[in-house]
Amino acid sequence: MSDTEPRVDTTHSDSKSTEAVLAVDVSGDLRFMLDQLPDGVIFMDEAWRITYANEQARRISRIRPEDLNSKSHWELYPATVGTEQERRYRRVMYERVIEEFEVYYEPFDVWIKLRALPIASGMAVYYQDVTELKRAQIEAASVTRRLEQVFDATSDAIAVLNREWRYTFLNQRAAKLLQPDGRELIGQTMWNMFPETVFPGSPFVENFFRTMNEGVSTVFEAYYPAPLNSHFQVECQPSPEGVVFFFRDITESKRAEKALRAEQAETERQRAELEAIYRTAPVGLILFEPKELRYLRINDRQTEMMGLSREEVLGRRVEEIVTSPIALENLRKVAAGGVVTDFTFETAFVGRPDETQAFNVNYSPVLDADGQVRAISVAALDVTKLRKAERALIQSEKLAAVGRLASSISHEINNPLEAVTNLLYLIATDEVLPPSLKPYVHAAQDELSRVSQIATQTLRFHRQSNKPTAVTPAQLVDAVLNLFAGRLSNSGIHVEASYSTATKIVCFENDIRQVLNNLIANAIDAMRTGGRLLARAHDAHHGGLEGVRILVADTGTGMSVETQRRLFEPFYTTKDLNGTGLGLWISKEIVDRHGGDLRVRSTQNGKMHGTVFSLFLPKEPPAVAASNSAPLKSPAVVKGEGLLR
Ligand code: ADP
Ligand code: MG
Repeated sequence: MSDTEPRVDTTHSDSKSTEAVLAVDVSGDLRFMLDQLPDGVIFMDEAWRITYANEQARRISRIRPEDLNSKSHWELYPATVGTEQERRYRRVMYERVIEEFEVYYEPFDVWIKLRALPIASGMAVYYQDVTELKRAQIEAASVTRRLEQVFDATSDAIAVLNREWRYTFLNQRAAKLLQPDGRELIGQTMWNMFPETVFPGSPFVENFFRTMNEGVSTVFEAYYPAPLNSHFQVECQPSPEGVVFFFRDITESKRAEKALRAEQAETERQRAELEAIYRTAPVGLILFEPKELRYLRINDRQTEMMGLSREEVLGRRVEEIVTSPIALENLRKVAAGGVVTDFTFETAFVGRPDETQAFNVNYSPVLDADGQVRAISVAALDVTKLRKAERALIQSEKLAAVGRLASSISHEINNPLEAVTNLLYLIATDEVLPPSLKPYVHAAQDELSRVSQIATQTLRFHRQSNKPTAVTPAQLVDAVLNLFAGRLSNSGIHVEASYSTATKIVCFENDIRQVLNNLIANAIDAMRTGGRLLARAHDAHHGGLEGVRILVADTGTGMSVETQRRLFEPFYTTKDLNGTGLGLWISKEIVDRHGGDLRVRSTQNGKMHGTVFSLFLPKEPPAVAASNSAPLKSPAVVKGEGLLR
């Protein structure tokens, strides 16, 4: 063997037959050093035989001692034949170039990174087993791919900025969003690409800087101006590389939120509107709990009608509030599944026990999904006034009928009366009449004259006249007092009438009589236990007009301040269903239309209690003076229409 033959250093080799392994002249320290290398080293001759392999090479390439200098590389590693590796080896061997590459050798399942270089005796290969590294790389690549897939699948747009503020990663969504026109973002700086977001106080600048420089994560909402025109929620996370930011387009949800808010506001507005209607409806509205019939809800009108506050009513049972048993009966009927509609009844409430009111009521069950009665809804219309108006109408109809009857009777008896008067006169003036009979005849004459006076007055009173007439206050008042003579004496009322004027005033006699009728009737009502009724008349001036003033005063109960304030209102009465509350309202109207004035003074104090009505009537009503064409119409007709309204 020549001294170029490799020798074996047994001290440094664990190989059993190192002598045979060393086929080229690698000796001593060199051999030792090569075996220590972490990489494999082989030499090949021109016949592709391996002439030397260091320890690593023997391990990686599974080279046995007998393989050296015997079989060719192609025989030893048949799987490399015809591969890229063979092509490159041949280039090294024949073209004398250096090749560097990675190769996977399947039979051994190893990845090798190698550098092949030509040497004088053939070629040398210097290589490493990079299987582990390669696997890690492959795994890393697939992890990255998978992560990218995950990123692409998220609904968030994700982008990474490096420390130079350049985009280094965009998931698909981010790419689509941030580069809608296809401009390439990777490698560009954020500041250049989105100058619209960079201004003093911009949330982007502030938060990105905090995350990048202070390493804290930040979350903020911001508007990306054109071309995006969208609202985003942006989350910035610090990463070793720079900043990872996630942004979510919340334009839609913002819009939906806004729409929802608007819708809520609208619903609230409608609710408030309905609530206001419910509260202020001119109909009493109540909601009852159906088991014990307790008040659940009640509107203003209903509390007003009851004379109780809402607190006094809510939670209470119906029988604790309404005095009539009919209400309870009806509610029970509806609670049991019945219906009660258009039901009219009269009742008083515990808040106003003396005041009976009439109601037209509809009861209806409020059903739940299972058809169970969950509540009972009640709508109550106060028809007290309507009832009174009805009664007043009937009353005035009756009065008119009685009047017509009276007038026809008085007309019929007038002629016989006149005959009897004349006959009595003849008897009284006859010489042969015995003096003892004279007082009887005179008494008969007196009584007869009273009868004829009543007959003529009744006739006058009920004769509907279309034209104003001229009458004295005395004529007017006396006629009415005569009519009430019976009631007055029955009530123990002492009448004092005195007139200091004989001025004739032009008026609708019937209407003025109606006024006096109302005043005197009220006075009688106020003096249930007797008293004094004063009637006076004198010339007077009022509002620049000449006329007369008629006073009707009583020593009755007098009126409260509240009553004095309201007594001219229609339907205002303190007499419950016995009064219509229309008397003074109509009277005032009649007086107004005569250009007159009606006022009252009243007190309930001590002994002085009583009331004075003062009626001024001008000599001629202005309208009558101005023209005779329909200035004054019969008030009964006008009021009749008014009542029905
Ligand atoms: P009505 O007599 O039907 O109640 P009115 O319009 O005639 O209606 O009177 C209204 C109210 O005025 C009466 O209910 C009564 O309270 C009060 N009033 C009227 N005149 C008198 C009076 N002379 N004395 C006391 N109260 C009176
Ligand atoms: Mg009256």
